[in-house]
Amino acid sequence: MKQFEIDRHRNMSTQLGMPRGTAANRLRKLVLFDLLKRHNENICYRCKKNIEQAEDLSIEHIKPWEHVDVALFWDLSNIAFSHLRCNCAAARRPVVQLKHRRTAPEGMNWCRTHKQFLPVDRFSTQPSRWNGLCYDCKDCTNTAKREARRSPDGVMVAPPPEER
Ligand SMILES: [Zn+2]
Ligand SMILES: [Zn+2]
Repeated sequence: MKQFEIDRHRNMSTQLGMPRGTAANRLRKLVLFDLLKRHNENICYRCKKNIEQAEDLSIEHIKPWEHVDVALFWDLSNIAFSHLRCNCAAARRPVVQLKHRRTAPEGMNWCRTHKQFLPVDRFSTQPSRWNGLCYDCKDCTNTAKREARRSPDGVMVAPPPEER
């Protein structure tokens, strides 16, 4: 971006009292809510009650698209409106959670091999994953690596001493 554009955006944010992007998103939501109301479609698809305020409006995907199909993200027939609270409550229900997104207690992460929650500092980072952490804790990852070093005849090669 050129300097005058940066200055202009900064100036707009100051006038709006919030980042310009935030304001634009808020405006889009107000416009959408206004249209829904005029068409009597401001109805929560979860609790079937009216959505009374734009702040309560949440746009969600009926079928989860992530790790499934990106087309579902753009599919307008897969879009539904709900109360923010109904959407959030549903996300907390374990039944709709994806298996690998078990609701972890604060500061914990699920280890696939241990099959239990462990403190996050016991995991290596993996930026490609949704939570930035590996599937397995460091101990399990190291064990797996040692297993992989078994010689072809199945005899375990002694691990280097620093790994013990
Ligand atoms: Zn609702
Ligand atoms: Zn583990």
